[in-house]
Amino acid sequence: MSRILTPEQIDLSQRLILNANKIVITTHKSPDGDAIGSALAMHHFLKSIGKAPITLLPDAAPDFLHWVKEYDRCLIAEEDAQGTEEAIADADLIFSLDYNHLPRTGDFVSSLLSKATAPFILIDHHQQPGEFPAVRYSDTSACSTCEMVYRFIEQCGWIGHLNLDIATCIYLGIMTDSGSFRYHQVSHDTHRIAGELIAAGLDHAEIHRNVYDTNLMDKLKLIGYALSEKLIVMPEHATAFISLTQEELQRYNYRQGDTEGLVNQALSIRGIKLAAFFREGNNEIKASFRSKGAFDVNSFSREHWKGGGHINAAGGISSENMNTTLQKFQELVAQFSEKISAS
Ligand code: 5GP
Ligand code: MN
Repeated sequence: MSRILTPEQIDLSQRLILNANKIVITTHKSPDGDAIGSALAMHHFLKSIGKAPITLLPDAAPDFLHWVKEYDRCLIAEEDAQGTEEAIADADLIFSLDYNHLPRTGDFVSSLLSKATAPFILIDHHQQPGEFPAVRYSDTSACSTCEMVYRFIEQCGWIGHLNLDIATCIYLGIMTDSGSFRYHQVSHDTHRIAGELIAAGLDHAEIHRNVYDTNLMDKLKLIGYALSEKLIVMPEHATAFISLTQEELQRYNYRQGDTEGLVNQALSIRGIKLAAFFREGNNEIKASFRSKGAFDVNSFSREHWKGGGHINAAGGISSENMNTTLQKFQELVAQFSEKISAS
């Protein structure tokens, strides 16, 4: 768990990359800004050294990430099963970016990856990484995988290849995963890297606009509804939560990504230390957890919601219906009340 790659990791990474002909870059299901940013940063970097990587996404990204250069060249597993099988079977090097357990790539991609014969290079910042031969570059103190991708390229001696496309992708992931440079994992090195990216000619204001100022009105109305009608505050447990059923989502023409950041609104309430958001999907309920301070939502999610993530931001799932799920959450919150309030 380190900022720095070991000399052995650098040597092995260089050899694997230089000798590979069929590189596949993978990231997690429901890709976010850091997933798309790190995957396409690596994609643009590998192209800059003469490689022709395939960037594989388990499923499509939300609309607010489609502007990223060559997003439209990504192979989307949900839309091309055969192409995905072939790419993974033929690969001689696989990058695993912004996830650290194969199941995060979804059932289909993870079953193919578990049979792959190619070596893996993992670059990731989530807690408790699994085994990833051959290179496992894990730094749970990093605010984003994207800043680790920058350090990886730098430490391998290739930062001279930094171009505007790579820089834009790296900035995208740092910006989205750090809450626009506000979370405590943001370090002097995060700002150093952001400075280098701006020095490379990056238009940071445009990236911000592309991500945050392209909302549809339906999305804002959904957020408005969720905050005014569905926000439940439990002040005695320093907890707030929001839930949305499929019917409610459909009422506002829900599109993937529309509720991103909603859980942070609940956390922003004065005195609230734990926030949760539950979104009903087709087969299960997706849960998002956020905390301020010491309450560890990674452990909370691992132990009770088949999930994980970071100490202050994690996700999981529930296979129960919404009422049962919310009841379970409230019971757990009452059980952990002291820990939550003390954090
Ligand atoms: P979000 O709540 O934004 O979906 O996710 C917050 C964090 O938790 C992200 O870093 C994400 O990668 C992680 N995460 C979200 N859902 C899951 C999950 O089902 N399993 C695990 N292990 N991590 C998750
Ligand atoms: Mn990330």
